[in-house]
Amino acid sequence: MQSHAPTVFPTPERVGALDRLGDEIAELSAHLDAATARLLDLIREFDARGGWNGGFRSCAAWLSWRVGLDLGAARERVRVARALGTLPLLAGALARGELSYAKVRALTRVATPETEARLLGVGRAGTAAHVERIVRGWRLVDRRAEARETARRHANRALHVYQDEDGMVVVRGRLEPEVGALLMQALAAARETLYQRARVPEGADGRGNVSAETPPLAQRQADALALLAETALHHGLDPGAPGERYQVVVHVDLPVLADPVQPGQSVLEDGARVSSETSQRLACDASRVVMRHDEEGRVVEIGARTRTIPPVLRRALQHRDRGCRFPGCGVRVGQGHHLHHWAQGGPTTLSNLALLCRRHHRAVHEEGFQVARGPDGALRFRRPDGRPLPEVPPPAEVPADPTKVLRACHESSGLRLTARTACPGWLGERLDVGWAIDVLHPRAQKRTLDGAASR
Ligand SMILES: [Zn+2]
Ligand SMILES: [Zn+2]
Repeated sequence: MQSHAPTVFPTPERVGALDRLGDEIAELSAHLDAATARLLDLIREFDARGGWNGGFRSCAAWLSWRVGLDLGAARERVRVARALGTLPLLAGALARGELSYAKVRALTRVATPETEARLLGVGRAGTAAHVERIVRGWRLVDRRAEARETARRHANRALHVYQDEDGMVVVRGRLEPEVGALLMQALAAARETLYQRARVPEGADGRGNVSAETPPLAQRQADALALLAETALHHGLDPGAPGERYQVVVHVDLPVLADPVQPGQSVLEDGARVSSETSQRLACDASRVVMRHDEEGRVVEIGARTRTIPPVLRRALQHRDRGCRFPGCGVRVGQGHHLHHWAQGGPTTLSNLALLCRRHHRAVHEEGFQVARGPDGALRFRRPDGRPLPEVPPPAEVPADPTKVLRACHESSGLRLTARTACPGWLGERLDVGWAIDVLHPRAQKRTLDGAASR
């Protein structure tokens, strides 16, 4: 094995030259950290003002597309940028080049406005490795507290059912959030089933559709609960597969699919109207059951259930596109989008299909984004205002000597950075993480005090 560095005699000139090289590295690093603080400010503002919201699923996805960060790194930037919005001390230390981005990134995983000052002390005193270890210990304390909170909620779940003096049965209870959501969805579904027939099918919108006989919500809830109980017993308490629990059924007239301006109906099973753009999207890639209605709207014929895009073609599409084709997206699971809709005569062929994730399928049907295949076979996306949305954005212009520009920029704002700016105060003593957490973490302190009090 050869050694990596050439063997040289440490003459004073060589030592001096290497020191200067090291200082230059340290100074430029401090400048980059200070510039990163500015970058994070800009990202936070862009995020808060929804600058990415024109077709991208998140600020991180936009960042990844625009500046070429991998998605994980982009998410981390956005997370740190948001966190620093409420942590002025850490943000200031980064902006002055006193704390490296690596340390700030680690500290923002646990810092709150309440603990920020202490953690800034940790960042100033320790090396990046110390900070990382303290943050890991800190999170453990936080996670235990969170687990205790979840366990407490779970232990407090209860449902009391008892008979009142007049013979009515009273129901009262506390459910965990996800169980509560399930119950509310089930009650909503049962209410729809019981009361959709009470609605006037045409005419006034929303609340106006509910006929005069519809009882108030509390009474409908009571009836819905009865239906839930009956249904559960009737089906032997079989919860079924997750996807079958609640389905959306859209009734749409064929002319509406072909041309949104055509009159016709486009309604959900419960009678709520959806836009013709939405029904076009739902029909783009769906199971299709054709029902023929007579003049009075009665169903006279029901065809077999068919897939709009047959399974073989879908596999070929998935294999060719691999994921969502919207610029900067690439989400693996997608829906087949007909570039020229089948209801308008577009063929269901590979060349007329593109894979889009749910978010971006909505973007092209309902938000005005356009996609077409160019003569060279490549997809071309356009923003709602017609401007092209390229796969790769144009590169930013970079000055020939970035250090000079950064230094000039920082000095003009009164910031003088040197090779010593970001040095930790650590003097080489051993780090006792357990002791450090006990001293610093508010919950750990409380635990220590509780422990001491009970002793
Ligand atoms: Zn589509
Ligand atoms: Zn997408």
